[in-house]
Amino acid sequence: MSKDKNPLLDPKRRSAATQMVHGGGKRSPFNETSEALFLNSGYSYPSSQHAEDLFLNKIAGHNYSRFANPTVDMFQERMALIEGAEAARGFASGMAAVTNAVMSQVRAGDHIVAAQALFGGCRYVVEDYAPRFGVESTLVDGRDPENFARAMRPNTKVVFIETPTNPTLELVDIQAVADIAHAHGAKLIVDNVFSTALYQKPLELGADLVTYSATKHIDGQGRVLGGIVLGSKAIIEADVHTFLRQTGATLSAFNAWVLLKGLETYALRIRQMTDSAEKIAEALASHPKVNRVIYPHHKSHPQYDLAKRQMSRGSTLLALDLKGGQEAAFTLSDSLAVVLISNNLGDAKSLITHPRTTTHARLTEEVRLETGVTPGLLRLSVGLEDADDLIADLMYALDQV
Ligand SMILES: *Cc1c(COP(=O)(O)O)cnc(C)c1O
Repeated sequence: MSKDKNPLLDPKRRSAATQMVHGGGKRSPFNETSEALFLNSGYSYPSSQHAEDLFLNKIAGHNYSRFANPTVDMFQERMALIEGAEAARGFASGMAAVTNAVMSQVRAGDHIVAAQALFGGCRYVVEDYAPRFGVESTLVDGRDPENFARAMRPNTKVVFIETPTNPTLELVDIQAVADIAHAHGAKLIVDNVFSTALYQKPLELGADLVTYSATKHIDGQGRVLGGIVLGSKAIIEADVHTFLRQTGATLSAFNAWVLLKGLETYALRIRQMTDSAEKIAEALASHPKVNRVIYPHHKSHPQYDLAKRQMSRGSTLLALDLKGGQEAAFTLSDSLAVVLISNNLGDAKSLITHPRTTTHARLTEEVRLETGVTPGLLRLSVGLEDADDLIADLMYALDQV
């Protein structure tokens, strides 16, 4: 065949955009173009000997969909190729992925250092849940890497960060924190949801594991929940796979199939949403009713230089702090016609949320103010609508404030 020597037969030679469409694809004997949905829990074996060899890992194959399913394999392989990771495992949700990444690396007596500005569930896992099992944690202001260095102990096994953070879009210097973690023999786990696999490469900056809520930009159309953990073959196969196999927060084959289809348009959607987010940040930055707009690649961002260094673009989320506090934030949200009030993000539909009264309501006012969740703060997840419509919608709503 004439394509035998074509270098692009090697998946590693293909660019990320091509991986998003073809990466990890496997065809059944029917040669379908779209990835097949293997909606089965178990597998049958040609012989007892085959079953024994499979369970002894002497031969490759699938034995139970809690940890082995061809549709889930395709999703994992596609994500690993996009991320530049050796291996990946899918999970039932982003929180299942984060919980596995963190808890598979610690045991009683260990210590976790994490940035204090974290997605609500992630903060719960390190601050409330891990200590119940004898794993202490210290939360620090993630904006200064020195705070991580000061919190490290001889028994620190994990450093966990999210950057940009939810909802105030503060940044953590991934490379600096990776160096600190490694100097103390700890692993760095990065929740990369906000910047997406397109715009930030934590593994290249020294992270050991990267997690995503696939519910967000990967599905990106508000349909299914999912999560994924990516990293070296050694950590994924030994720790992450075993934890998944034995505790069972499995990504369903159906959801994996939806996520595979989501990945085909991942780059297109995120680029469009980022173009619009940049325009909206610029349009709102000088509005008299707005204290400040927070967007990583806007020159007013306090960590603009770091944002330019570690994120290739500013991504799809922005935050705005209104001068009129909570009343102004509610009036703005309630006056919007296109943007929906919702705490989800990364969706085709633009979504606005008031963190103080929703996602961050559980925290004390003191902790909220420490992490920048002021009464006037709104988080906007920019969708695929026309950018000028979104700006007009927001300007109309600001006029009502
Ligand atoms: C949504 C989200 C999660 C949790 O993901 P689910 O799919 O909702 O479980 C974790 N981290 C970040 C940054 C998120 O945005």
